Amino acid sequence: MQMVADQSNIFLESPLWKKRFPNLTAIFTTKNGGISSGHFSTLNTGLHVQDHQEDVIHNRRAVAKSSGWDLNKWIFADQIHGTRVVKVTARHAGMGTESYNEAVKAADGLWTFDQGLGLSLGFADCVPIYFAEPETGFAGVAHAGWKGSVQNIAGEMIRQADEAGVCIDKIHVMVGPSIGKCCYTVDHKVISQLPGEVSQSPGIYEQTGTDQYKLDLPELNRKLLQSAGVKDEHILLSEMCTSCHEDLFFSHRRDQGKTGRMSAVIGWREE
Ligand SMILES: [Zn+2]
Repeated sequence: MQMVADQSNIFLESPLWKKRFPNLTAIFTTKNGGISSGHFSTLNTGLHVQDHQEDVIHNRRAVAKSSGWDLNKWIFADQIHGTRVVKVTARHAGMGTESYNEAVKAADGLWTFDQGLGLSLGFADCVPIYFAEPETGFAGVAHAGWKGSVQNIAGEMIRQADEAGVCIDKIHVMVGPSIGKCCYTVDHKVISQLPGEVSQSPGIYEQTGTDQYKLDLPELNRKLLQSAGVKDEHILLSEMCTSCHEDLFFSHRRDQGKTGRMSAVIGWREE
């Protein structure tokens, strides 16, 4: 499955999901079409990376506008590479849009049943995971780096949805662009923390040297989603590597830490 750019090249979306869920916005921003400069050139959407705050807000407004939204309806989180997933409602609308301090505290996953809210998280290699269930109007997004992946934030999102009455069988999940196995080398410290139920699954990692492994984070998350009960045919992987596609994406590894952030945004539009 590919995510493809809209006309402005400001964001990517899945044609398949667009067709399947006409009232859903599920986008991943590119690094193009903004006004930031230097390491953040040009569409940095992260407020916490030493870019000019007013440029970031301008960029975020451009993303919202180009996808048919009002930025005041979006909600941002203060991400900490944890597994805390938070339910948000209309009363959270606008949190963190213009100030990092006002974002939802210490959360790497957001979900809602409310229409008209755009749930937004920032990325530069970590795995963006989008969740949608049309009957209940459930929408969620999670940020899964290696820590969030091995600690199974994807499963935590499914657990909370289930607890809230969403039928797991009906949840659709899309794994957006992230650093791919091609570019993601880790050491034993990371591999040793892979959850038991998936650590032996073929293809998740391979040893490439002494204490050197290539880890496939999207595939790891696919396995965890399957273990949590999500139907195989409801899981899409974008198969795009943020490090390989320098024309489209910021990459924390490739850019040696000095880089911007893309945003993953999901929400059901008001009917
Ligand atoms: Zn790559």
